[in-house]
Amino acid sequence: MTKNLYQTDSYLKEFDATITGVDPATNAVSLDSSAFYPGGGGQPHDTGWLEIDQQRIPVIRVRKTEEDTWHELDPAYPLPPIGTRVMAIIDWDRRYKLMRTHTAMHVLCGVVFRDYGALVTGGNMDPLEGRMDFEFENLSKDLVQIIEDTVNLEIQKGHPVKIKILPREEAFQIPDLIRTKINLLPPQISEIRTVEIVGLDLQADGGTHVNNTAEIGKVHISDYKSKGKINKRIYLSIES
Ligand SMILES: [Zn+2]
Repeated sequence: MTKNLYQTDSYLKEFDATITGVDPATNAVSLDSSAFYPGGGGQPHDTGWLEIDQQRIPVIRVRKTEEDTWHELDPAYPLPPIGTRVMAIIDWDRRYKLMRTHTAMHVLCGVVFRDYGALVTGGNMDPLEGRMDFEFENLSKDLVQIIEDTVNLEIQKGHPVKIKILPREEAFQIPDLIRTKINLLPPQISEIRTVEIVGLDLQADGGTHVNNTAEIGKVHISDYKSKGKINKRIYLSIES
């Protein structure tokens, strides 16, 4: 079973690990511990490298099964055997952009709920750009500008971002979490990871985030679209 290091330390860029499984069908290896994000909650999986005997093998895709995190390797390289020690390196430039983007999306969620009571229904992101869907009936161009200004104001305030792993029963007592529908999580999940932008937003979330909103930089709402009478899609981008 892989110990997922990113859950408690988003800033871990390199780590040592041992190969615990190989899957020739997908040219993938599982590791005893991994800081690679396997994808989920709208955040794409990480990429990077495994270094073995001074050879850097690209990790081109990462996915998670119930037990393990699997790292698909560039098929140009032979699959290393179980027991091999590796030094693993995350593509930090890409990952850090995703962390800034993911936290920016939570700032947007927090602002839109606090100021307009609109709930988020979904979202997706790439490095430095994302989109989020809201139940937001009366969205206009003027309102979008106000939201962009407010999001940037909150980012500049430098809210700390806190990650916690709570027992399910404890998480279910928190009203902010109930609003984000944690009751839909499968019953076998006994611990719930929460991401709190202190004073602004609290969600159950598995992703990687920056430590402080000031790290995000300037956000633009680049577009918005109607996806029906109630549902609106907001597109945001972040200055590199
Ligand atoms: Zn999230």
